[in-house]
Parts: sequence; C-alpha cells; structure tokens
Amino acid sequence: MTPLLEVSGLSMHFPVKSGLLRRSQLVNRAVNNVDLTIMQGETLGLVGESGCGKSTLGRCIARLYKPTAGKIHYQGADLASLGQKALLPYRRDIQMIFQDPMESLNARHTVQEILEEPLVIHGIGSASDRRKEVNRLLDLVGLPKRSATRFPFEFSGGQRQRIGIARAIALRPKLIICDEPVSALDVSIQSQILNLLLDLQSEFGLAYLFIAHDLAVVKHISDRIAIMYLGQIVETASGDAVYQDPRHPYTQSLISAIPVPDPTMKKERIILSGDVPSPIAPPSGCHFHPRCPACFEPCAETAPELKETDAAHSVRCHLESKA
Ligand code: SF4
Repeated sequence: MTPLLEVSGLSMHFPVKSGLLRRSQLVNRAVNNVDLTIMQGETLGLVGESGCGKSTLGRCIARLYKPTAGKIHYQGADLASLGQKALLPYRRDIQMIFQDPMESLNARHTVQEILEEPLVIHGIGSASDRRKEVNRLLDLVGLPKRSATRFPFEFSGGQRQRIGIARAIALRPKLIICDEPVSALDVSIQSQILNLLLDLQSEFGLAYLFIAHDLAVVKHISDRIAIMYLGQIVETASGDAVYQDPRHPYTQSLISAIPVPDPTMKKERIILSGDVPSPIAPPSGCHFHPRCPACFEPCAETAPELKETDAAHSVRCHLESKA
C-alpha cells in the first residue's frame, strides 16, 4: 500500500548565536535525519520527552517550518522543497491542531470568522454557503450554533480545543498534525476530545500524526507509535508491540513509567539518570548512551542505525545486532 505521506532524511537545524558579541554560531539539531510514513486513515503516535524535537517535526511536515534537509513526499510532490505559493493547494490537505488553541485562534475574531477564514482563503462557497458550513462544523465538534457569534475567550479550554478542531477539518484535510492537543486539558475533558478525534477520523477517513509526551494517551488513539529521542526516531512499531515488547531501552523506560490502575500489581520502574542532553551538543555515538542502563562498548563511539527487527518493528540500538 502506498503511504499517504512519506518523510525521508528530514532535518531541521536552527542556528544559535552565542558568545559575548553573539558571533559564534552553534547549531540546534532539533530534528535529525528522520524517516517516517503515515498511511491513509491511520494514526501515528509520536512520543518523546519535552525538547526531543517532536513538535518541530510536526511543524516541518505541516510546512510551518521549511526543513533544512530531507524530503516530504505527498501526492507526487516534495513539500519540503516548495515555496509558499506552490504549497497553497497542499495546505488544504494537511492541517494542524495545537496544544493551546488560544495560540492559533485570533482572539479578536468571532468563531464564525475563525471557522470561515480557511474557506475564504481557498475561495470555497458563497457567504451563505460558508455560514451553513460553519454551523455544520460546530455541530460536528459538539458545539451549539450560537457559539458562532462568540469570541474564543468566552469558552473553556476543552471548548476552545473543539473550535481548533473545527477549523482544522474545515477544508476536509487528509492529514491532521495534532500537537499535544489534550495535554493542557483536565483528564475528563481529554477523553472527550480523544473520542471526538476518533469519531471524525471514522467519518472523514482522516490520518493523524498525534504528538504527545504521555504514552498512555497515545496508546488510546494510535495504530502505530514512533518514539523520538533527541531529534531522532529510536523505535517504531504497532501500538501493541510498543507496549508488550518495547525493544529500545528508552522506550522501555517510558513504558515502565505508565501507572498501573491495579494497586496490587507491582511494576518495576526504570529511572533514567540525568536530563535530555542539549541538541546543540548531542552525545557522540548513540545519543542515548549517557542515560542508557544497557550501554555497552560500541555505544559511545558508533551511532546505531534505525533497523527493522521484524515486520513493522524498527529499533535504533546496538543491542539488536548483539542479540
Ligand atoms: Fe543503549 Fe547502546 Fe542501545 Fe544506545 S545503542 S540505546 S546506549 S544499548
């Protein structure tokens, strides 16, 4: 089956000025040589600690950033190389939902104006068609029609996220990048928003790249999961395989941190030492080696490749060739 979107060798490096005169030029390697695929109608969960580059990767795929290197194959085009004008038709197909919808919703615009805007930009429908469409979008995300005349600040966090979702689906995209869409919400509201995303997926055949730092949330929604560490994908597999047979030591530590609902069940937690290193000066060899409980001889010298270990399971770790 042909993937809906295929990312190959994608890197996003930001120059960082430092020193007294801010002349010395360092490089923040936020995303480094990432390969991934997203199939039509599937949810790929992207998990990692804060600062690992997952949001930057999402923003590159949505082309909010122009990647430093690599390709984003979509419908015969390489989105990574296109200019703003050439990108416009593809922007319809790839939309984004943000963690804090206030960041993306214009506080001075009514919900009607916010939801209408993408339709106006893409020249879709007459004014009365668009009004009808706004009512339909509100209905789809479970908000009353009277919401159209109100402003974002008049809504709760969960309702604002529903407005953000309504705007993301206004152009009937094929892929939505969901950047921590429930992290800022109460637990009870989180499940409502996740269920709404699942309902919309089955209605419109949407694919999601679902970015989160919480593996428990990602498990609820994902078909496959990619684990990211310091700008690189270190493991990809089906949701079940990641939970039942995590192969990379970093994934194993993330899984061990998920609370078990049964208090009588004992679970050994793998505590990692130290913080995530800076992407400006990543450790040599395997970037995870200073924190890895399984680190052995070649790890500090030689960088492991992301290798397929069995069908649909890939791991970036020297232990795989040792086994
Ligand atoms: Fe740990 Fe070595 Fe595997 Fe890196 S390559 S995760 S340091 S065992």
